[in-house]
Amino acid sequence: MDYKIVIDAGHGGDDPGASGNGIIEKDLNLKISNYMYDRFRELGIPVKIIRSTDETISPTERVDRVLDAFGNSDDVVVVSNHINAGGVNTY
Ligand SMILES: [Zn+2]
Repeated sequence: MDYKIVIDAGHGGDDPGASGNGIIEKDLNLKISNYMYDRFRELGIPVKIIRSTDETISPTERVDRVLDAFGNSDDVVVVSNHINAGGVNTY
């Protein structure tokens, strides 16, 4: 089966997500997602991205964009990128 990829950069705009060590989740999610998008395109794999800039997207709008990308079928893979702040090891 030839898969189609939908990449979602979590958070964005007014919703920063987690933060720590000077890193804001929405920004790192966007970097990772844009990299993945470019790489899948280079490989000739059908791919769409939910947001490619720092924009606010409501949960409903996000789902609508996912469904608008390639529809809802078994050959669609959705990757939603998120990064947690996690704990800190001091030793
Ligand atoms: Zn997140």
